[in-house]
Amino acid sequence: MAKIPLVDLKAQYESIKPEIDAAIQRVIANTSFIGGKEVSDFENAFAAFQRTQRCVGVASGTAAIYLVLKALGVGPGDEVITTPHTFIATVEPIELLGAKTVFVDIDPQTYNIDPAQIEAAITSRTRVIMPVHLYGQIAPMEAIMEIARRHGLSVVEDAAQAHGAERNGQRAGAWGAAACFSFYPGKNLGAYGDGGAVCTNDAALADKIAKLRDHGRTSKYAHDEIGYGERLDSLQAAILGAKLPHLDAWNAGRRAVAAIYDAALKDVPGVRTPHVDPAGLPIYHIYCVQVEGDRDSILKALNGRGVGAGIHYPIPCHLQGAMAHGGQGVGSFPVSERAAAAILSLPIYAEMSSSDAEAVIDALIESLNAG
Ligand SMILES: *Cc1c(COP(=O)(O)O)cnc(C)c1O
Repeated sequence: MAKIPLVDLKAQYESIKPEIDAAIQRVIANTSFIGGKEVSDFENAFAAFQRTQRCVGVASGTAAIYLVLKALGVGPGDEVITTPHTFIATVEPIELLGAKTVFVDIDPQTYNIDPAQIEAAITSRTRVIMPVHLYGQIAPMEAIMEIARRHGLSVVEDAAQAHGAERNGQRAGAWGAAACFSFYPGKNLGAYGDGGAVCTNDAALADKIAKLRDHGRTSKYAHDEIGYGERLDSLQAAILGAKLPHLDAWNAGRRAVAAIYDAALKDVPGVRTPHVDPAGLPIYHIYCVQVEGDRDSILKALNGRGVGAGIHYPIPCHLQGAMAHGGQGVGSFPVSERAAAAILSLPIYAEMSSSDAEAVIDALIESLNAG
């Protein structure tokens, strides 16, 4: 059987090659490689797409989270609440700012932070709650905002996997002080390198982040605070701008593949398909199933059949060596730990044919015997 990758960036490029090539050529012809119109045009377009007032382009999703927390004044002695079932980049900015990461376990259905467990984690030092819209499904923001309001906390949305995802008709950035996006190539909106963005309805926060990303600059050689070199470059902005008009259709294409998987797998013993919150419109950055038995053997068998399945993520953040100082060992967050041991990500991308989806389904069903 032909190989089916986890995500097919080449197929996407081929579908819009003239638009991408023209965008790249335009930047090179103008030799305006940093800032300028390419970046501001993309920022305006992405703010409109997420339906926020402002967007600030930055160098990566990690930079987006870091700069938002920094701009909110998070520092030593502060605590930030988030989930351990995420990519380490959710946690790194908290740690780099000298604050303490306080983990709260996930809801076993959606893999997002469990709002019922947040309040018990709040202390007098808590400053921020940072839900992650994992796999492209928006966290239960109404409940999270209600808790944050009651305790006077800021909310920062890690929306690195949720470009265009909706909940009750709203997109990331509608709830928290800001939503942080990654344009890592494999994300639903991916650059041809690193990139990220902050979307917010808070003009003062946007201005502060725009200054911090660019060396604290107030004019060419005037700097009124120590900042960072964390800009989105013009080449990436132009590529992202060429891709953005296609994103809603690409997300719908992923939902169509997900519907094929759902229909074929929902009654297969030993496989649990994703639970979609009825308030949500997910974008399936990841299509995550749980399997019974020996997940690693099932994954190996699937890979052996040419299916580029993966695991997002095999080690919860509290069990990473980098977080050993937190002292939270095995058993601290049982729902996250159980999920990490049982999940499998199946290939998903807008250009995937229904026959490829069927081939993945057949391969998974055959591979279950290996577990
Ligand atoms: C990708 C990702 C990030 C980090 O984005 P980079 O652009 O790689 O820095 C942060 N959080 C989550 C949940 C991600 O998936």
